[in-house]
Amino acid sequence: MGEEKELRVRRIENGTVIDHITAGHALIVLRILGIPDSSEGVVSVLLNSPGEHGKKDVVKIEKRELKVAEVDRIALISPNATINIIRNFNVSQKKRVHIPEFIEGVVRCINPNCISNSNEPITSKFNVTVDDDNIKLRCIYCGRIISENIARHLL
Ligand SMILES: [Zn+2]
Repeated sequence: MGEEKELRVRRIENGTVIDHITAGHALIVLRILGIPDSSEGVVSVLLNSPGEHGKKDVVKIEKRELKVAEVDRIALISPNATINIIRNFNVSQKKRVHIPEFIEGVVRCINPNCISNSNEPITSKFNVTVDDDNIKLRCIYCGRIISENIARHLL
């Protein structure tokens, strides 16, 4: 591989490539995954990369294979993302993200009086539904619904 290409695209030996992230959402994906605190390997981020269906973001995480729960959280803000698990430079698994039916400890309830926002040690919990591609989160404690800008309410 020539140096020029190496500069632009770094192939990874083992880890995860998250492709087809909604353009502009890569940094939120990193936050959901707790990067950099949770990963010691190299993490590469491509913003506004040209793709078949317009611009997209791509995140490559070396030496870490994402778990299902982590992948599903990404679906909340980027439902078209694909997850490629890389082993020995080859894609060993490719999967679509899957919007979870229930999330816990990911999003803050928008109701300031909700018990999950009090000083009690209560984890936020939401039931998730999808309506015409719109994701709706319903707080199990107070019933408040979050239907837009989910990324802004991530914990
Ligand atoms: Zn609530």
